[in-house]
Amino acid sequence: MTETKRNANPRIVTLTAPSGSGKTTIARRVLAAFPQMRFSVSATTRPPRPYEQDGVHYHFLSPETFRQRIEEGALLEYEEVYPGRFYGTLVEEVERATTDAPVLLDIEVNGARNVKRLFGDEAVVIFIQPPSLEVLRERLEGRATEDADTLRTRLERAAYELSFADQFDTVVVNDDLETAVEETLHYIADFLSSRSSVTP
Ligand code: 5GP
Repeated sequence: MTETKRNANPRIVTLTAPSGSGKTTIARRVLAAFPQMRFSVSATTRPPRPYEQDGVHYHFLSPETFRQRIEEGALLEYEEVYPGRFYGTLVEEVERATTDAPVLLDIEVNGARNVKRLFGDEAVVIFIQPPSLEVLRERLEGRATEDADTLRTRLERAAYELSFADQFDTVVVNDDLETAVEETLHYIADFLSSRSSVTP
């Protein structure tokens, strides 16, 4: 965990949720609704899925390079989300967040807690909650990007992550996607406008 150099008035919007909660879909809708917002591309040691592009979805790093980046202090936070699979937010991605160009993070719960600890009121953390673990299982099975072992690991992890829901600024239940998107957009708009009077 590294303390980052900070802009005077950073604006950090964080979506957090168990894998399969619809967080990535909601993140895409947020970026479409707030064109001035940039997506923070995380570093990871997991292999790319077939459609994923290096530098767009993630910076795909070898475990050695990831470790080196930690030692250099290049990561704001990082987690071993699944055994042997590291994910982390790059300092340089968040450093560029300004009043005019907020940054959007799509990260798991421990990373989100660290962001909140580092940035306090300058960051907002929105927890996207699936209606139930059963629905989550169906969604992950339907996505079919995971084998049986990975699916089980992801469901175990989801149960753990759900226990942290009440630590965040707001919880959006993703039962109906359109309703969840609308609630998320409202919350972010409020956060951004509540801080617009603050000058750097
Ligand atoms: P996936 O493998 O499905 O892309 O991501 C697995 C989990 O890791 C998701 O919950 C995702 O939000 C989270 N994640 C992605 N990037 C980061 C990061 O930089 N830091 C942390 N703590 N979690 C991340």
